[in-house]
Formats: sequence, C-alpha cells, structure tokens
Amino acid sequence: MRLILMGPPGAGKGTQAKYVAEKFDIPAISTGDIFRANVSQGTPLGVEAKRYMDAGEYVPDEVTNHMVRNRIDEPDAKSGFLLDGYPRTLAQVEELDGMIAFTGHRLDAVVVLSCDPDELVARLLQRAQTDGRADDTEDVIRRRQEVYLEQTAPLIEVYRERGLLIEVDGMGEVGEVTARVLDALAGVTQS
Ligand code: AMP
Repeated sequence: MRLILMGPPGAGKGTQAKYVAEKFDIPAISTGDIFRANVSQGTPLGVEAKRYMDAGEYVPDEVTNHMVRNRIDEPDAKSGFLLDGYPRTLAQVEELDGMIAFTGHRLDAVVVLSCDPDELVARLLQRAQTDGRADDTEDVIRRRQEVYLEQTAPLIEVYRERGLLIEVDGMGEVGEVTARVLDALAGVTQS
C-alpha cells in the first residue's frame, strides 16, 4: 500500500498514521518527525528546518523533497509506506508522483481527516501543555492553520480529481477515527 494521510494541523494525523501503518505493515513516514529528529540532533538539515518550523512556515520544497526521496528509498519502504505530512504543496505532489512512478507503482489512496477548526486549535493548545512542542504556541498554531489553508488544502481537489480521495471524519475518540479510516481503506485495492 502507498498511502497519504492528510489533514490540518491538530487533526490527529500522527496518531492515526501509526495505527494505520501498523495494520498494513508499512512504515509511517512523518516529515515533521524527521525534521524534529534532525533538530534535536543538531544536524545541518535540522538547523535549516528549525527556522521555518518555529515560525509555522513550510520548509522549502527542495529540502523536503530530497529528504523524502532518501527515506522512501530505504529498504523498509520498498513494499509500501504511509506518508504523514507530505506532500503539502503542489510542487511536492509532482515530486512524489515522479518518485512513485520511478518505482513502477502508483499511489493507492489519500485519506483526509476533516475536523472542526475550533476543535483543532483547542487540541493543539492542549498538546502544547503535554508535549511541549516548540511550534505549539497560539500565534504559531494560527500561522500553521493559515499556511495549511493556503498551500495544502488545494491538494484535496487534486487528489479528488484523480479519484484517490477518501474523506474521513476526524472528530471523536482516537479508536473511533482509526476504525473509520480502516473501514474506508478496506475497499481500496493496492497496486
Ligand atoms: P508536522 O509535525 O507534520 O505538523 O510538521 C511540523 C513542521 O515541519 C511544519 O509546520 C513544517 O514547518 C515542517 N514540515 C513538515 N512536513 C513538511 C512538508 N511536507 N513541507 C514543508 N514543511 C514541512
């Protein structure tokens, strides 16, 4: 399975990605997690990414695309993967198309978690208290929501036109949402 999990910041992508990936026995690849790991290790990539992350902006496409290309080239991603937080721009969509076409496979589905905007901000502020993520301050949260609407929300239509989109209600208990996602994916045939 080659899957994408999309949704606005706070929709629960990371949590759901882990459960869904486990179910299909594929790696959950989170660009946000890879960036954060680089930030905490102080790598050159981390130093560059941090400037953008702290401001709630997207890391430039060339940097992000290069990182994803390397990651999906790794052996554990040969038979499939679930992308969490990538692609986020139209340029990343094109780049991913190229990466997948090169392997002779295709994308199987794009799951979008939909959520009530007020609930999202509340969840992120809650996460700020429990996880202490540097980009979970109220100003940065608002900026991340704006950037999502401007740059990432348009991708939903792109994938809808390709017939790949599966919209799932992201509200409610974690387990309920996972069940909805798995249910929706049950009808997807993999390439
Ligand atoms: P996330 O954990 O997915 O919310 O990502 C945290 C931050 O990492 C984002 O606010 C961006 O600064 C950066 N980031 C993650 N994925 C991408 C991406 N696909 N393109 C650009 N920046 C990204």
